[in-house]
Amino acid sequence: MTIFAAFITPHSQDQPLMSTSLLDHHVAAATKARSISPTPIEPPDLESCFGERTFGPVEMRKRLPKQVFNSMMAALEKGAAWDSSVADIVAQAMKEWALEHGATHFAHWFQPLTGGTAAKHDSLLNPADAGKVVTKLSGGDLMQGEPDASSFPSGGLRATHEARGYTAWDPTSPPFLVKNRNGCFLAIPTAFVSWTGEVLDHKTPLLRSIDALDQEARRALRYFGTDAVRVFSTVGTEQEYFLIDEEFYFRRPDLINCGRTLVGAKPPKGQQLDDHYFGDIEERMLAFMLAVEKELYLLGIPAKTRHNEVAPGQYEVAPVFEDSNRATDHQQLIMRTLKRKAREYGLVCLLHEKPFAGINGSGKHNNWSVSTDTGVNLLDPGPTPHANIRFMFFCTAVIRSVFKHQDLLRIAVASAANDHRLGANEAPPAIMSVFLGEQLVDIYKQLEHGPASSSKRGSKMFLGVTGLPTLPKHAGDRNRTSPFAFTGNKFEFRAVGSSQSVSFPNVVLNVTMAESLDEMTTALEAALNGRDHTDEAVLEEAVTKVVRDVMKEARSILFEGDNYAETWHKEAEKRGLLNLRTSVEALEKMTDQKNIDLFDRYDVLSEREFRARQEVWLEQYEMNIDIEAETIDSMARTLIMPAACAYVKELTIPVSGFPTEGITDTKNEVMGHINMLREAVVKLGSAMDFHGGDALANARHRADVVIPAMAAVRECCDALEKVVPANLWPLPTYRDMLFVH
Ligand code: ADP
Ligand code: MG
Repeated sequence: MTIFAAFITPHSQDQPLMSTSLLDHHVAAATKARSISPTPIEPPDLESCFGERTFGPVEMRKRLPKQVFNSMMAALEKGAAWDSSVADIVAQAMKEWALEHGATHFAHWFQPLTGGTAAKHDSLLNPADAGKVVTKLSGGDLMQGEPDASSFPSGGLRATHEARGYTAWDPTSPPFLVKNRNGCFLAIPTAFVSWTGEVLDHKTPLLRSIDALDQEARRALRYFGTDAVRVFSTVGTEQEYFLIDEEFYFRRPDLINCGRTLVGAKPPKGQQLDDHYFGDIEERMLAFMLAVEKELYLLGIPAKTRHNEVAPGQYEVAPVFEDSNRATDHQQLIMRTLKRKAREYGLVCLLHEKPFAGINGSGKHNNWSVSTDTGVNLLDPGPTPHANIRFMFFCTAVIRSVFKHQDLLRIAVASAANDHRLGANEAPPAIMSVFLGEQLVDIYKQLEHGPASSSKRGSKMFLGVTGLPTLPKHAGDRNRTSPFAFTGNKFEFRAVGSSQSVSFPNVVLNVTMAESLDEMTTALEAALNGRDHTDEAVLEEAVTKVVRDVMKEARSILFEGDNYAETWHKEAEKRGLLNLRTSVEALEKMTDQKNIDLFDRYDVLSEREFRARQEVWLEQYEMNIDIEAETIDSMARTLIMPAACAYVKELTIPVSGFPTEGITDTKNEVMGHINMLREAVVKLGSAMDFHGGDALANARHRADVVIPAMAAVRECCDALEKVVPANLWPLPTYRDMLFVH
């Protein structure tokens, strides 16, 4: 391991890590932590560096003829159809810009159903006469690419021999430069479809769902006197992640293969002291964060908040919100940047939802709202929400969406990894509910009986010390346990997993909102019954009726209490709310007719495309569990058993003149664990042997049989970890990984 790590991380050569015991290893890792960075970075000039590596409005204004620039901006800001005849001009300007930054290649950058990103790089050079070359990026190169589509998950949409796929430029997300110290390439955000035109990616349905939302929101807004040309969703993501020293990472096959620890005894100190959350950020981690943020600024990503999270070794970064398409692209770049930069600091960034059992996992709060191109946040209640009937209409539409489509929200966060987190007293349960806060709950209560006539207001809070300012108090408290909480002017969907693309969660939010607005607008039209909606009293009466009717049905989705409590789970069951505990249970419901119809009706995914996604996600579930099962099996057999047996051997060497009962008892204890481990491993082996079913049956078998068999193996391994001497134990422990930086 030492040789391997030294090979990939130049700066680890400074310390010889010929560790015979883990204690030496701690010292070495802690020493290494002192050399914060191989090359200190220049602090960024915030205002001038922002977006320097993007071909966004600033660069376009400088380089494009005015008319072309205007047409690009109309596409960007108003979603106007883009005049492709100017593609050559845009491509030429983009190429010049990229070359000036040292780019040699360009790549269509897309988001296949792996959940990550992909790109095929092409050089900008083209052969010319007399053995020379010229650089070139044509309009065609910019607009369309042709990657092989058969090597990405397609859920049966493409057979291995049906390879052709297309990428198509998305002009609404700015191209950017990916740089390292040896060079640079131009990445062009694109959508990805098969030769038959079927969607194979995460971007296309997102763009379509934004269009559906736009159409239905503008239809509703006609009654509220708004002059919006475009309506879109806005998204701000809070990314949680772990950092561990790479030395430990490379000694853990489970982290390398699966991104999470499959064995590991609970350390004496975990997060129980609550001393990490918002704590002082360690020097090495802060240096890493500064480097990450600088990179994000250059990429035009408005990184805003950073802090230590609840678990030791856990952190968070959150950018300022953007339109949901750019936010989703940027979210991918944030994850990529975290991973890449970590390595420069001798660290590894773990994005897995549950890297360490018994310690909080990582999520990604998806803050979501709906905004107009004129900058109006439609979920902003203003000072008197009861009187803001537009807000009440849109807010009610969100509540209706969550009520009607609890299953889709659960499906949108389904993965083998996220199942460890949801409902584990650190993240919301698998039951979807909406938290509104005192003020809104009160308004909806009033509406049940008549028109709402008042809004509870936030008051002022005196801190009891003259010298300290009086603070404004919000009209509602926060509820950390809610999966879907109103937080003042947006909803926060908290069940999203830390490693996943935020695309599909936002597709679901957008398309279900489109449906709610569609149906509520139709109901509003019926309630108006031809009366003049510009008469305020008439409109208010009609909106109140629609809101009240919707809430009569949807009210059961509202919950203000503790979502972690067992009493809530019982209450939710009484209310008839769904509790889709595992991702397999959730994915099974994905193709219920109502869901197929919803996606089809708003042209987001055809039935075939929708079913394909279910297939892909079930297969991913199966494959992820299989990789974990094989990994824990081999760790148990080739690392843990041998270590335990070596200890037994040590205990067998007689110590002359010393009473031996204690040694014999210890030996028997260890041998007992070894025998149990052996049995558990054999059982796991037979559990793993199941492949014959369809995607659903295979996944279900993993959830019901393989996961419990893995847990049994783990239990034996963790028991051994507690008794086998540290110098024989072959794996870094939780204490090492979480506390030695
Ligand atoms: P928390 O208090 O939940 O930790 P943070 O302040 O860390 O919240 O993050 C809140 C996130 O919500 C930020 O990304 C912020 O930009 C985002 N946000 C704020 N307003 C909106 C909005 N209108 N639409 C979407 N996201 C928003
Ligand atoms: Mg949050």
